[in-house]
Amino acid sequence: MMERRRSRKRGSSLPVASWLSCKRGIKGMESFKVLVVDDEPDFLETIVKRLQRRKIDVTGVDSGKAALELLEDRHFDVVILDVRMPGMDGIETLKVMKRKRPLMEVIMLTGHASFESGMQGMRLGAFDYVMKPASITDLLEKIMKAYERKLLHEKKICNARPIG
Ligand SMILES: [Mg+2]
Repeated sequence: MMERRRSRKRGSSLPVASWLSCKRGIKGMESFKVLVVDDEPDFLETIVKRLQRRKIDVTGVDSGKAALELLEDRHFDVVILDVRMPGMDGIETLKVMKRKRPLMEVIMLTGHASFESGMQGMRLGAFDYVMKPASITDLLEKIMKAYERKLLHEKKICNARPIG
């Protein structure tokens, strides 16, 4: 009985498993990775610099397409995602992201005009939203909370399905 269950588990390993923090030997809040996606270069640069100053491992890209390309071979824990972008907008990007990396937490960046899209993002699985111009304190607090939630979800999965 136990044996059969174990072998079935091994046979159907989730693609997401390799990104689990418990699988990678990460136990706490250390070394998490943040991706910022925004089409406004000045805004992007400012946010990235401010997070770097707070010792956050952060990468910035200027489009949804570029973000999804990065996700092909890189791992991020939390994404800060602008709602309004030319080409692939934040909502479209969010949908693909949540499909590719269900455990990765996404925080939407909205403006007054795109507030509704922020709400839509929440319904589509975004962790939270931040109104522009985002205060770095507010943003940081939400990033930490998002990462905590991701760790909690990963822990549950790791405990439920012993890996390796
Ligand atoms: Mg924008």
